[in-house]
Amino acid sequence: MELHDENPFKIRSYQSALTSLERGDQDIMDLSDTELGQINGVGKSIIEAIQCLKSTETFPALDSLLEKTPTGILEILQIKGLGPKKVKTLWEELGITSTHELMEACQSGKVAQIKGFGQKTQDTIIQNLEFKASNAGKWLFADIEEIILSLESTLKDLLPNAQIALVGDFARKMEIISNAEFLVASADLEALKSSLKTLESIDWNLSISGPKTLRGKTQDQDLSLVVHLCSVTDFAWKKLSFTASKMHLVSLVDENESIGEKLSKKDFSTEEEFFSKNGLQFIPTEMREGFGEVELAKENKIPELLQDNDLKGILHNHSTYSDGKHSLRQMAEYCKSLGYEYLGISDHSRTASYAGGLDIEKVWKQQAEIDALNLELAPFKIFKGIESDILGDGSLDYPTEVLASFDFIVASVHSILNMDVTRATDRLIRAIANPYTTILGHPTGRLLLRREGYPIDHRAVIEACAANNVVIEINANPWRLDLDWRWIRYALDQGVKLSINPDAHEMEGYSDMKYGVLVGRKGGLTKEMTLNALNGKEIDAYFAQRKAKIQ
Ligand SMILES: [Zn+2]
Ligand SMILES: [Zn+2]
Repeated sequence: MELHDENPFKIRSYQSALTSLERGDQDIMDLSDTELGQINGVGKSIIEAIQCLKSTETFPALDSLLEKTPTGILEILQIKGLGPKKVKTLWEELGITSTHELMEACQSGKVAQIKGFGQKTQDTIIQNLEFKASNAGKWLFADIEEIILSLESTLKDLLPNAQIALVGDFARKMEIISNAEFLVASADLEALKSSLKTLESIDWNLSISGPKTLRGKTQDQDLSLVVHLCSVTDFAWKKLSFTASKMHLVSLVDENESIGEKLSKKDFSTEEEFFSKNGLQFIPTEMREGFGEVELAKENKIPELLQDNDLKGILHNHSTYSDGKHSLRQMAEYCKSLGYEYLGISDHSRTASYAGGLDIEKVWKQQAEIDALNLELAPFKIFKGIESDILGDGSLDYPTEVLASFDFIVASVHSILNMDVTRATDRLIRAIANPYTTILGHPTGRLLLRREGYPIDHRAVIEACAANNVVIEINANPWRLDLDWRWIRYALDQGVKLSINPDAHEMEGYSDMKYGVLVGRKGGLTKEMTLNALNGKEIDAYFAQRKAKIQ
């Protein structure tokens, strides 16, 4: 509507209806017209649109707007930093209707010359277009998980007598997945191929397939699929080699031979046998990355990795006090019902006004409600926290007496994301050095496949956390998974604890914890080094002790 100069009042009414519908808990498709009418901002015309959506999956106003809008424009709207106003200008002044044309116009400097754009905007657009292009065909692990697992069961149903293994990046629980990869073993490869080709949900591409590989795409999602075929006797070593990363395969086991070379001897029949035969401790699949795990395995130093049920409580969560969807009570009762011993509530702090950050009055109100709920829900405990914005100069977002009232503080950057690495690192280190900071939240602010993180010197940040006894969060939201797992080992070596935090903005958000555990395991995280593996009593003592040390 903004692209087509529609009435601003109409635009605002759609926006406010959308905001309240998104906040609500129910599927709008299940609500009656009367129930819809009771929702804030939902008037007659919105109800009509929803009625129409229910029966036809679209509505006339949307159809006519889409008809007037080139599909390329819709794609351009997805690019970070380009709102409807700017997109409209590009369309009108330069006739740009595709990302391809936009890239050309940027490269020839035309975009910078438009009033209100400038060199910096043009550079950012180029950067974002490149980022988008490099991420084409890639998926978040969590978004593609169900589809890959259902492909696996489809294959198992289709080929009941074959040995089937999920291999590739998905088997190693990589945070970003670009294809589904399977290894299938059978005595009769030709029969196997013929059966696979009967799968109607797959478009096989025979021109890029080979005698022992079938490649194609799933019709519904356009997800690349690779099926490696092998004989029954080759299954064990091929499974190990297709599961490992390239770096793992070239890691040296002894002076002469790498993992890959050892594998090609084919002198073993199980994974366990392969490792033990070569004098290595068993390396869990998700660690086979070439990140020093072979060295660790030689010295028998692969630890017992963290598991889902080691986690005893959930820290870093939001409620309706700031931008969460569920109330404090709902968040607490649901957490308790899942069997956890405690919940750490950390709504946004006052500077985060866009997210309903808490002013000081609201902080006191929330803490009083927590006290009351704690009496009711004991021995379950809600810890009083805040996700304090780290301000531009690295300070936290409240005066000392307010900071001192919290059991724990997650310090996170949410604004001024364009600092260079030195300034961004200094800012974080200043926040880490603040004695009230308990946990450093999502250290780089990255959103996988959407936004690169701000540049930080990970080493320096981790060392500062070690020096100040600050825990680093592994933000378990599948978009974030930040701290990146590649830095976990360094953190552990410095004695820095990590916390698996879902950053839940609704009750269902707790289930993201499992993605934090997956990447934690990739980095070698143990129960002992995970803050929220402490039980309720232990973490209570941990917070109290930490606060007592503040001068
Ligand atoms: Zn945050
Ligand atoms: Zn948060």
